[in-house]
Amino acid sequence: MAEQDNGQDRMEKIVSLCKRRGLMFQSSEIYGGLNGFWDYGPAGVTLRRAVEQAWWTFMVEDRDNVEGLDSTIICHPRVWKASGHLDKFSDLMVDCVDCKRRFREDQLESPGVCPACGSKKLTEPREFNLMMKTFVGPVFDEEHVAWLRAETCQPIFVDFNQVRIAARQKLPFGIAQIGKAFRNEINPRFFTFRSREFVQMEMEFFCRDDESMQWFDFWKDARWEFYTKVLRIPEPRLKIHWHEKLAHYAKAALDIEFEFPFGWGEIEGVHHRGTWDMSRHEEFSAQDMKYFDQERNERYYPTVVETSCGLDRICLALLCNAYDEDMADTKKEGKDEDVRVVLHLPPLVAPVQVAVLPLSKKLEEKADPLFRALRRRFRTAYDVTGSIGKRYRRQDELGTPFCVTVDFDTLSDHAVTVRNRDAMTQERVGLDRLETYLDGLVHA
Ligand code: ATP
Repeated sequence: MAEQDNGQDRMEKIVSLCKRRGLMFQSSEIYGGLNGFWDYGPAGVTLRRAVEQAWWTFMVEDRDNVEGLDSTIICHPRVWKASGHLDKFSDLMVDCVDCKRRFREDQLESPGVCPACGSKKLTEPREFNLMMKTFVGPVFDEEHVAWLRAETCQPIFVDFNQVRIAARQKLPFGIAQIGKAFRNEINPRFFTFRSREFVQMEMEFFCRDDESMQWFDFWKDARWEFYTKVLRIPEPRLKIHWHEKLAHYAKAALDIEFEFPFGWGEIEGVHHRGTWDMSRHEEFSAQDMKYFDQERNERYYPTVVETSCGLDRICLALLCNAYDEDMADTKKEGKDEDVRVVLHLPPLVAPVQVAVLPLSKKLEEKADPLFRALRRRFRTAYDVTGSIGKRYRRQDELGTPFCVTVDFDTLSDHAVTVRNRDAMTQERVGLDRLETYLDGLVHA
């Protein structure tokens, strides 16, 4: 079924599900929305936090050689001068003389034609800086200009020495950070894929230059493992796109792409950044950014290998991968309609991992304490309203992998029915072993 949908149709259904179930929706909607800005509702924020936690565990907590950092969004303006963002972080844009809309030149479907109104009157391409500007202090003049960070990695370079000393690390080691980034994208589009405010999860790995390509390969493989093993995205829906044109300081660069309904799109970049960032920050700050290698008795700039991904794009990829409509045996569950909308999200990131559904309000005395006990171990929801078939559908739409139904037999046999979202099986499980049983499934 999924394969037969055309991409646009499928995307519209996903956007509509996200809005209907409060996963993600337009920011400031009552004022008509703000293009490129998205809010995450209760289920969306839980999904996002689960993915963020999965990344943090995989990149920081499970490793001895990666440290965490949480820096400010606004940094000293010279950071962005040193990084090159103020001079070079720009896209070429064109304006339509007739409808006045603005587009990225590299995204025009046919050169010289306005994609909105079809006019051929487009201006010459002009540079457009993507940095978002603000002011620090009470005076709004050029002296007080500051910038919202366009990527989370620059403060990592700036804070390299503080983190290294505080954590007593030696090369090779990495610093990871999760946080907001802002880009004044000319053409925000494809739902949250291209937003103007988004979350990045970046890790900069500092090493010796002669070992940097080994580390590049290591991180390429690790990141692939994260998507395929941790987030369980099927390999055929991912691919690696090697950059042919490299920055002058880089030895290699690649993107990990996901097959979205609107086409392949980058979700992560793995970049060899050479010694560029460290040497630039030394030049602009006049502080020594070199590393003293005791074993080799040598001072040098660390070479950097970066892994950089967008949390919003990963969440969108997970939702696109999970979305399905199937002809499950809905009659068995007391529903007449034949199509079920379901998100096959892995339990690790599903907003709700277990839903407790008492068959009748009269069973609440039994179901409520069970819900409270399960909630300590799993992300658990409780739903007592509507037919059981409707409640299953509601949970399917949110991607809840397991529903626990408390029925009148529970009062005598001390067992509940556990319904599996994907296999659509139902198993009777004794209350005394329910937590262990669910634990095996949720944390498998
Ligand atoms: P693109 O070519 O799509 O604009 P990029 O190459 O500029 O992306 P990077 O600067 O390498 O992206 O940023 C690293 C990651 O940050 C990307 O892989 C993506 O997941 C995320 N990202 C970048 N721009 C956006 C955006 N406008 N909205 C959401 N996520 C973004």
